[in-house]
Amino acid sequence: MNLKADFAIIGGGIGGVTCAETLSHLNPDTNIVLITASSLIKTVTNLVQVSERIESFDVEEKPKSYLESTLPNVQVVHAAVAILDSENHILKTSDGTSVGYKKVCICTGGRPKVIVEDNPFVLGIRDTESVQEFQKRLKNARRIIVIGNGGIATELVYEVEGCEVIWAIKDKSISSAFVDAGAAQFFLPCVNKEKTESRKPLKRHKYTEEGKDDVTRPKNVTGGALGPDWSVNRDMVGNQQGSHKVHIEYSVEMANIFKLDEIKTNGKKIENPSTFDQITDDWPVCVELTNGKIYGADFIVSATGVVPNSHQFSANNFEIAEDGGIKVNDKMETNVKDVFAAGDICTASWIPAPHWIQMRLWSQARQMGCYAAKSMVASLSNEDVTLDFCFELFTHMTKFFNYKVILLGKFNGQGLGEGQEILLRFTEGVEYVKAIIQDGHLQGAVLIGETDLEETFENLILNKIDLTLFKEHLLDPNIDIEDFFD
Ligand code: FAD
Repeated sequence: MNLKADFAIIGGGIGGVTCAETLSHLNPDTNIVLITASSLIKTVTNLVQVSERIESFDVEEKPKSYLESTLPNVQVVHAAVAILDSENHILKTSDGTSVGYKKVCICTGGRPKVIVEDNPFVLGIRDTESVQEFQKRLKNARRIIVIGNGGIATELVYEVEGCEVIWAIKDKSISSAFVDAGAAQFFLPCVNKEKTESRKPLKRHKYTEEGKDDVTRPKNVTGGALGPDWSVNRDMVGNQQGSHKVHIEYSVEMANIFKLDEIKTNGKKIENPSTFDQITDDWPVCVELTNGKIYGADFIVSATGVVPNSHQFSANNFEIAEDGGIKVNDKMETNVKDVFAAGDICTASWIPAPHWIQMRLWSQARQMGCYAAKSMVASLSNEDVTLDFCFELFTHMTKFFNYKVILLGKFNGQGLGEGQEILLRFTEGVEYVKAIIQDGHLQGAVLIGETDLEETFENLILNKIDLTLFKEHLLDPNIDIEDFFD
């Protein structure tokens, strides 16, 4: 099959789909082709504008026909792009389709940074298939070892029930990719707490890749990264009674993986946390941590982040950033003519606004996909675009341990250097508020719980309000700061 497109997009994740939707809305007369290796595409639904810059939304998986029926000028091809021939402006898929394009956007996401490749006892969590595999194995598991300290590990540790969990983290506090040690302390009692909320059925329909013929997807090409509700209401139950049993090992990394007989031959000792039930030593796999402790488990979950899929089209000599992403400028253009990139695959290589940082999140994949589309349209008609205002302030809204979490600006003081002042308000089990002030101005904030401070804090950061005289009262619960700054 030979296709011709004004705009081509590679990848059916949030970045690629948002790019296709925006292109279609901006330019209904053009011809758009989206090529995706996953049989289901990701769409954003139930978008709620929480404040001017904070959005909350759901991510749904839909069949490709959904996009084609809602956007008449978009054609979706289910195949993996094998070659990007940027010189001749042609994409070639592994099943022989070729697509000629004027502008192309790469939205191929990332792949899990698995601690050990090709070990049957090590599982990386990335897409729907890998979660299904995880659920299947968990059903027969007594104990698992979770390696990693980001969002995926945090959610997993909270969701798994009926199975002991050894949580091995390289930092001194939990969930450090998102929150500081103080907030980690706030969450700590939740780690082993019985869950009170019941599992409610999801209101929306979930499509599944199960049973679909995915032959066009080579083994090294992943499906779309999971969306924000990837762990909600999924059955994550082991074969034991009871709710949570989590033991945390701080400041460690994985040193070695052994089989049980290797441990026995070497005369090494297997640890058993005193609060755990499993005192057996018939584990299929054992992990030695860098503190010398050895734990047995049924399997290991590697939740140590993702690396961009930038290896796929390396023949084009893309400039690659230190974190492995394809570098893009402030128009989402790569160094290769007419090739744009958006979402997890790319690394923002412009000089960022003072309160913005890149994090590989669904919200940023959406923002980048949308802005890349605007930029592609402008480029086709030789017009200019200015960087979208969503890149002025970092915002992220999520849930950890069933608490609402909002992160604003330089929420962990990233790159602020000396002279930071930290203001805290902390009520155990209710809320944790951290405000970072530098030179009298609010630079970032962590808001956990129903604080109702997000809109005011967002304005304080963006409007660069001088708080020198007011900072003593900024977190005073008896003062309505919203009124004060109105
Ligand atoms: P992806 O969603 O990865 O999509 C990439 C697409 O490209 C896929 O369709 C893939 O099949 C396709 N593709 C790849 N190679 C090819 C090829 N050669 N040819 C054709 N198609 C190809 N973010 C949050 O904000 N909140 C969360 O709670 C959260 N939880 C997460 C939990 C997990 C387990 C994971 C893995 C990620 C999570 N993230 C979360 C991150 C978020 O999911 C990603 O940042 C986001 O989905 C990236 O979107 P994307 O479109 O750039 O890439």
